[in-house]
Amino acid sequence: MVDSGCSNHMTGDLESFTDIDDKYRSQVKLGDGKKLKVEGKGTVVVCIEEGNKTLIRDVLYVPELTLNLLSVGQLMLKNYKLLFDNGVCEIINKVDNFMVAKVPMTSNRIFSLAMSQDGEVAFKSENLDQSFLWHLRYGHLNFRGLKLLRQKNMVAGLPQINKEAKICEGCIYGKMHRLPFPKTSWRAKAPLELVHADICGPTRTQSLSGKRYFLLFVDDFTRMMWVFFLEQKSEAFPKFLQFQAVAEKECGHQIKTLRTDRGGEFIYTPFMEYCRNNGIKRQLRVCYTPQQNGMAERKNRTIVEMERSMLKAKKLPNNLWAEAVNTTIYILNRSPTKAVRNKTPIHAWHNRRPQVDHLKVFGCIAYAHISTPNRDKFDQKGEKLIFTGYSDESKGYRLYNPVKNEVVVSRDVIFDVMAEWNWENPISQSPPSYEILEDSATLEDPSNDPDPVASPERNSAPSSEGDNFRDVLTDSDSPPLRTRSLREIYETSHVAYFSCEP
Ligand SMILES: [Zn+2]
Repeated sequence: MVDSGCSNHMTGDLESFTDIDDKYRSQVKLGDGKKLKVEGKGTVVVCIEEGNKTLIRDVLYVPELTLNLLSVGQLMLKNYKLLFDNGVCEIINKVDNFMVAKVPMTSNRIFSLAMSQDGEVAFKSENLDQSFLWHLRYGHLNFRGLKLLRQKNMVAGLPQINKEAKICEGCIYGKMHRLPFPKTSWRAKAPLELVHADICGPTRTQSLSGKRYFLLFVDDFTRMMWVFFLEQKSEAFPKFLQFQAVAEKECGHQIKTLRTDRGGEFIYTPFMEYCRNNGIKRQLRVCYTPQQNGMAERKNRTIVEMERSMLKAKKLPNNLWAEAVNTTIYILNRSPTKAVRNKTPIHAWHNRRPQVDHLKVFGCIAYAHISTPNRDKFDQKGEKLIFTGYSDESKGYRLYNPVKNEVVVSRDVIFDVMAEWNWENPISQSPPSYEILEDSATLEDPSNDPDPVASPERNSAPSSEGDNFRDVLTDSDSPPLRTRSLREIYETSHVAYFSCEP
């Protein structure tokens, strides 16, 4: 019996898989009638050019195969048009009508092709608009904001943003009405001269570590933000002490005024006494008056909006809200704000322009190389996880494992941006397709970071959502995921079309 897998890509090289279901069994019949056993199915990583990698999904592992076969049939499923005529197959990109390759038919219905370098075009996704990708990486930030970041050169690593987005599902669900900007009576003239604080919650769903509130601090002068996650409002005071220690040490200034509403957690006697004894002036806003709508409260709205967009866009469950809020703060600290001219908050705070080329799409699929002893060979290929943010403490990516319900941190990660977790059926995660893999990322150790601007600011936001999780850091000398360059594959392989038995 010949499985429909005969229209799949296949390889005999087990090493090239980053993710494999080794239980998968079937057979393929080659054009010459020879039958070969399929002993697995998974994802292969290929280099399309220096530093740019692509995932090819649903590749069959055929141990007897000496060539790596990329199926034309599978190409058809993803925006490539195939014209068979006069014994020639033309592969045409449907998006720009550009002919990618001409494949002559040889014997036994095999179309074989030694692709030139130009042929590599076939494996770049023409469909994923770069500007839209940055809209996603930036937590669904509006295009005006993105353009401004680029125009004013506010961050390093952002390309030209040109188009308005197509309709974005995440934005539709996430966006709420903006609160009117109140007239600001008074602006701070130095960092920590005025700090706004507000609590948001309780949330309907607990976070992964059982939190129901987030406590936000905003520095009035720089608009830099910090977030803490709480089980109870009463934790506000100890978290304030933590925030004060970190923030004052970082900027060398001291907190002069703290502005909050009159919530019980803020007027708690020991909190008030502490401020009095330490020369911190307290300003208590009157609750529920729109004129006095606090800046922290407005920021909270923006945060919730962005958090919802990110969760909805990737169909993520609500218990990831704290991961999303944490990422939102990380993004907003790198986004334009009206109050600071031509600088992002983190730039104003650290006096360094931030690097943003490490930003990834929240909720996308991430393959992490996690080195743990006693794993079998398949496990070592890389674990399939969900990207949920940036780790400040260990300079890695936070990755959620829905099966084990835990967050790990890894530096060696490959991202499949357009993919999302299949909650109904976690085993078969995706239909056969060519997906762009935006890139692989290895966060470098700051000590050997050639660009001093690139890393230290990632340290700044003292997030605490990860406290209760096992942080697994990959060894810095752990081997990268196995990759093969396309050229290497082309040198030893053909693109072939396998006809199925009726
Ligand atoms: Zn959006």
